[in-house]
Amino acid sequence: YSPNQRSRIMKNNLQKKTILVTGASSGIGQGIAIRFGQQGANVVVNYHSDEEGAKSTLDKINAAGGDGFIYQADVSSEEEVKGMYEEAVKKYGSIDVLINNAGIQKDSSFSEMTLDEWNGVIKTNLTGQFLCAREAIRLFVQKPDVGNEAKAKGNIIFISSVHDIIPWAGHVNYASSKGGISMLMKSLALEVAQKKIRVNCISPGAIATDINDDVWKDEQKKAELLKLIPYKRIGQPEDIAKTAVWLASDESDYITGTTIYVDGGMTLYPG
Ligand code: NAD
Repeated sequence: YSPNQRSRIMKNNLQKKTILVTGASSGIGQGIAIRFGQQGANVVVNYHSDEEGAKSTLDKINAAGGDGFIYQADVSSEEEVKGMYEEAVKKYGSIDVLINNAGIQKDSSFSEMTLDEWNGVIKTNLTGQFLCAREAIRLFVQKPDVGNEAKAKGNIIFISSVHDIIPWAGHVNYASSKGGISMLMKSLALEVAQKKIRVNCISPGAIATDINDDVWKDEQKKAELLKLIPYKRIGQPEDIAKTAVWLASDESDYITGTTIYVDGGMTLYPG
């Protein structure tokens, strides 16, 4: 490690901590997983179908000095999620941080939206985040109490969206799932705060990933999008990853039940 990296690692206290990142084969999840690897953490790299992407995430984690393994699981399958946690416990004893990131979009005008398009998005984005959070909480509560002033013994970060607060025409299923995550996060944070478990959301604005690649391929659409961003820059996975590392670290120990909008000011404009 360089001296700079070493001092960052010591400050963050994430070395040898175990982080489970869902949907870590691409985009924001991949960026987050690699950033934790750079802190010397153990990273469970969950993926759904893109094994190559997951392997490349793990390679970068290992190259940065972190440890980890890849694990295929559909976050909306109770059985597969349980299997993934069993594997994490077998390898590392428990987990310290869950990054609940996996998500999809299936866009449609409301009157044309099929029940499959509605259910598919809710199942992955909301039920999937519930299932992964529940298994994490079940592990966290088993950890020994270390006193009232102790640091958090578990940490959950939901990756939501600015559309948990900004309505989005043509994307009612997606916006509903993200609005749901917001209240899931707050209610859970309240339920487990006394157990020294922290629960928060990071809500990204426009981040250049596969989920919205139609925009990055189209200069016109990109220009339209930039009009909605006061900071006049499209976000990168790294913007979210930096925030996630800080929010998972002891540096942010007094923060629970809140949403951090990483959006270049997008939420400042009316919806
Ligand atoms: P992405 O498509 O690159 O990443 C989504 C990941 O989730 C993929 O790796 C995909 O394989 C995985 N995934 C999908 N369904 C899954 C399932 N059932 N089980 C396990 N994994 C599954 O796009 P991204 O932008 O990196 O999205 C990551 C998260 O960030 C999503 O929750 C998304 O809603 C949120 N987000 C993205 C933006 C943006 O502008 N990119 C903005 C706000 C919120």
